Amino acid sequence: MAGNENARLMCGNCGGILDIDPKKPTVVCSFCGSCFSVSALLDESETLKIARIRRDIELGRQNLEMARIRQAEAIRNDNIRRTEASKKSLISKISIVFAVLSLLMCVSAFTRGALLTGSFAAIQFVLFTVVFLMGKRMASAKTKKLYVFLFTVALILEIPFSLSVATNEAFQTSKNNDVIAWDEIVLGDRIPELDSESGYISKNTRSELMMNVYCVPLKRYYDFVEDCKEMGYTIEPDEDDKSYRADAKDGYILYVRYSVLHDGTVDVNLFAPKTETTSS
Ligand SMILES: [Zn+2]
Repeated sequence: MAGNENARLMCGNCGGILDIDPKKPTVVCSFCGSCFSVSALLDESETLKIARIRRDIELGRQNLEMARIRQAEAIRNDNIRRTEASKKSLISKISIVFAVLSLLMCVSAFTRGALLTGSFAAIQFVLFTVVFLMGKRMASAKTKKLYVFLFTVALILEIPFSLSVATNEAFQTSKNNDVIAWDEIVLGDRIPELDSESGYISKNTRSELMMNVYCVPLKRYYDFVEDCKEMGYTIEPDEDDKSYRADAKDGYILYVRYSVLHDGTVDVNLFAPKTETTSS
């Protein structure tokens, strides 16, 4: 059974298995009949073995390298997913805040009769709400693009909205700082002039005057009340230290009230007699 120790090598010519007996210097291929030197074959096989081992080591190294790259990639993807998620939640948070603000502005605008401004706010409300809801469940890259797009549009709408607020008289509080033009008051000859730097007339018709006069020192208010009395507002008076109310002989009714707002505000409310306005 010496054959068991025999190396089994391949025939370089036909690929058949060679049964080598190391005691013999040559071997003849039983398939194709080629003749080989045994010592040369054994040397070659050693060389092949070493090459195979080297190749295996190299393959193992490559596999390790691949695994390392794959792991790095997985970590990177995970990080990307995480930043995307946090970006998404930030957009969601901003959206819900803006949605609530838009709704409030929408209601405020419509109640003031500012339809255009209200419409902008309404569109913004819808967009921000949609973006918020989309942020709750979002899957494909396509919807993600739409999500960011809608959010951007909603934000950009803030510009025309702000412009329409700025230009709409319904929102202008700066009117409060207008100087009251006494000669433009329809019932101006029915009340004494109250000197002031600013004020706001909210009703200016033949039947009613309603205005707030700002920056009035308390002493000037008392003088004003005295002037009103001199003008004939003395019938059925109702007076305390911060308010005065009285009728005039011809039926006009005057209400005056003092508050500390805006460095001293005098609210003046004057009603013309109803019969007079209808007859004349
Ligand atoms: Zn052969």
